[in-house]
Amino acid sequence: MTINHHISDALLMDYASGNLSEGWSLAVATHLALCPGCRRRLDAMEGAAGALFDKLIAREPVTGSDWEKMKARIACEPGAVTAVAEKPPVAAAPKPARSAGVIPEPLRSYLGGDVDTLKWRALGRGAYQIRIETGDPETQVRLLKIPAGRPVPEHTHEGRELTLVLSGSFRDGNDLFARGDLEEADGDLLHTPTATEDEDCICLAVTEAPLKFSSWIVRLIQPVLKI
Ligand SMILES: [Zn+2]
Repeated sequence: MTINHHISDALLMDYASGNLSEGWSLAVATHLALCPGCRRRLDAMEGAAGALFDKLIAREPVTGSDWEKMKARIACEPGAVTAVAEKPPVAAAPKPARSAGVIPEPLRSYLGGDVDTLKWRALGRGAYQIRIETGDPETQVRLLKIPAGRPVPEHTHEGRELTLVLSGSFRDGNDLFARGDLEEADGDLLHTPTATEDEDCICLAVTEAPLKFSSWIVRLIQPVLKI
């Protein structure tokens, strides 16, 4: 598995400093479970933040070069780190065996099991979802299953959206997102991610609440009604 789309520095910094609410944290933590490169970035960030904190406690002056050093440590190319960190698989897993361990922790605990035990609710046109309950009123968290070759049902939302691919893949513009890839989008981005033709795509989608659910359904049936 090669992950090409990682957590941005700003988002990882918010996560490290405990500034993310539960929904966003769940997406970041689940990417971290799949991505050794970002786990190293997080370690470096926490180490650098700890060193700065020690200086503040010791009342030593924090200089510009301290910040430069911190930035240098966290700005390592995540892709490059991942390439070094990941070993080639010992044996290629047979395709149907993918259901073993598709959903990593901490997401698995939220869902109460892996993909083979999930109770999907149909959204129509072959798409399914599961609403994931959190104690976070800021976000809506859902697991989506998008049929191969179909667009991800578009949801109108304000603000940030995080989409983490767990199985299959989707294209958004020129970018391909596969297992482990995290897409960060904001409300300004009008996009139509589309599952690739080879298999259904399962992804975790976190959006800012409230989700305009009716628009979502309307967009889903647009191709049928040709509107
Ligand atoms: Zn990563």
